Amino acid sequence: MAFSVSGIPVGRGIAIGRAWVLAPASLDVPRRQIEQAEGHQEVERLYAAVRAVDEEFERMRQDIGKEVAAELRAFLDLQAIVLHDPMLIEATRDRILAEHCNAEWALVQQYELVAEQFDNIDDAYLRERRADVRQIVERILKAMRHPDGSHRIALPSTAASSQGEHADLPWILVAHDIAPADMLLLKQHSFAGFATDTGSPTSHTAILARSLGLPAVVGLQTLHGLIQQGEPVIIDAEAGVVLGSIDAPIRSIYEVRQAEQAVARSRLTRLKHLAAQTLDGEGVRLFANLDLPTDAAQAIEAGCQGVGLFRSEFLYMNRNDPPSEDEQYEAYRNVVIALKGRPVTIRTLDSGADKEVPSVSAHREAPSNPALALRAIRLCLAEPELFITQLRAILRASAHGPIKMLIPLVSGPQEMVAARKLITVAMAQLKARGQAFDAQIPIGAMIEVPAAALAIDGLLPVLDFASLGTNDLIQYTLAIDRADGDVAHLYNPLHPAVLRLVHEVIKTCNRHGKPVSVCGEMAGDPDLTRLLLGFGLREFSMHPAQVLLVKQEVLRSRATECVKQASRILKQGDPSKLSALLSKWNQDRDHISG
Ligand code: PEP
Ligand code: MG
Repeated sequence: MAFSVSGIPVGRGIAIGRAWVLAPASLDVPRRQIEQAEGHQEVERLYAAVRAVDEEFERMRQDIGKEVAAELRAFLDLQAIVLHDPMLIEATRDRILAEHCNAEWALVQQYELVAEQFDNIDDAYLRERRADVRQIVERILKAMRHPDGSHRIALPSTAASSQGEHADLPWILVAHDIAPADMLLLKQHSFAGFATDTGSPTSHTAILARSLGLPAVVGLQTLHGLIQQGEPVIIDAEAGVVLGSIDAPIRSIYEVRQAEQAVARSRLTRLKHLAAQTLDGEGVRLFANLDLPTDAAQAIEAGCQGVGLFRSEFLYMNRNDPPSEDEQYEAYRNVVIALKGRPVTIRTLDSGADKEVPSVSAHREAPSNPALALRAIRLCLAEPELFITQLRAILRASAHGPIKMLIPLVSGPQEMVAARKLITVAMAQLKARGQAFDAQIPIGAMIEVPAAALAIDGLLPVLDFASLGTNDLIQYTLAIDRADGDVAHLYNPLHPAVLRLVHEVIKTCNRHGKPVSVCGEMAGDPDLTRLLLGFGLREFSMHPAQVLLVKQEVLRSRATECVKQASRILKQGDPSKLSALLSKWNQDRDHISG
């Protein structure tokens, strides 16, 4: 019988497909029969993974420094002993050779055996060491799966795609959780939709899912355990539900709805060549947010006036070393060339929180509170070589077209001054090399830390422009981890505290003639377009898939009316009453537009 699970929608539309369920249990590995001759190769894979884990421990030992707890060293020593325990590794080798099976399977079988022995030990302390063995086994398995240190996930093969009962349906990814780095890999694979147990609407995983323009629902809690591999499922991202065990009548109802949505989308494309202007003649500029250089084509296709945010940190993911200056230069130059003279805003490395950059995290201890740690511009100032390499790459690309440089997570003028000093150093290096760049490149800051928003007047003298990162601004203002599904219901763009900060920043920038935009997810939400227009915003940057929806709102708005309504809304101090006021206003809009 069909069932549905509710979650949080992060993309639009409906997807009908068959489930590609990512295995949750890290010890859930399939058995593979190998040829006798392959045995030694398989043993070598096992040994190579053990060596990789050994090296990982060695790096950790060096990183923790002398003054750090002896306990941590003791823990690492204990793990190293377990790693080399003949009961685990040598016995796994023997099993591979005797049973002609893959190394992963042999290792897990051996672990089960060892774990059973631990369970029978009387001493509670020793019994608990079972967890150490499991951790080691998981590390070895991970090293075997990703010999190059990347985070790889299992994708459907071409053979799997053409087989099975529902081979006519596209794949829909169902997972407990997907890290942003893994989502990047999924971008290159054609899934029709996504559903995850965890997540919240503005986590980077959700942003990437949305940037694929696909229906997605997150925060489904238990869905992943309920869906079978290959089973037909429907993702309804309009209602925020996922349906499983669907039958033919349900499927045909959703097929009709899908067709209706396709018609509505194609109607919207008529707006592509219209200038974004309100009914009373206020011009608005609509920009695109890009995650990868290859997204540039989509920005052009949507009729964007440029790139308001290029998230450069995604170039640093799924690899052990940072991208070289030349590699980055090429990536940035390709975007600039693709945009044919339209401005491109490149944000410098915004690492940390839910965006793990292995070349940075490998030599740093995991922070106790990643969102508040040494990330983004703080990290770049602490690692000037890493930063200057990127600055040179951006500057070199600026010789090919208009680029603006955007600094993330700025909290005050001193960080901008320090960043500008390093930009000057990078410029001097390029000059010495005889390489061209735009010496007048505009340099701006993301306003996403409440301190920066509250004291925006102090920042303006060191900024050429400002860009409101409402995703983080909401996170830090409301103390809600944007990637944590358990608090996702508290993440509220319409909290009066958030709106007042956003309004104040826009108003102050406008008063001082400093260009200001919003590049957080609020800019791409058509339900907020009129409110932001009423705050005085004239530059919006969003995922290209949202551009025409937002343009439609601009075209049917009257700026003077927006100002009036926005000031009414700003006076409301109660979040739910404020939300009700906005919904009522938006209902009028829906009514007028028919
Ligand atoms: C933001 O914080 O609003 C933003 C645009 O940046 P990111 O989502 O990449 O943190
Ligand atoms: Mg941010």
